[in-house]
Amino acid sequence: MDLSELYQDLILDHGKRPRNVGELPGHNREAQGFNPLCGDKLTLYLRVDDGKVKDAKFVGKSCAICTASASMMTEELAGHSEAEARELFTRFHDLMTGKITDEQMPESMDRLLALGGVRRFPMRVKCATLPWHTLIAALDNQHQTVKTE
Ligand code: ZN
Repeated sequence: MDLSELYQDLILDHGKRPRNVGELPGHNREAQGFNPLCGDKLTLYLRVDDGKVKDAKFVGKSCAICTASASMMTEELAGHSEAEARELFTRFHDLMTGKITDEQMPESMDRLLALGGVRRFPMRVKCATLPWHTLIAALDNQHQTVKTE
């Protein structure tokens, strides 16, 4: 099977039918993200208990890449500690900014490599990283809007 095709399917699937969409009842962290370059806007809700991300949901108006990234991120986050969530951000950001190669991504994050293909379209990298920047703001419990610019 052609892996790049599989990854493409994954983005299309999450872009069209995003998971974890909606307000999260009982959330205790929240942040907004805005990418003026594309117009992506999203609000991320987290429920953090005992230092662990128990649940994550988002609402927004965003392009397919941003929506897919948010959908995959919220799936990935559940059950991770705050420290692990920050580590996921760092790895993902390193991947998207070309600091690490696909091979250097931890195996547990290999689904996120689907978004790595976006690197070939520099204008769209911020679409993919916006939900993750918003994640850090939510973990820091900042209520202001994060901008990619
Ligand atoms: Zn976008």
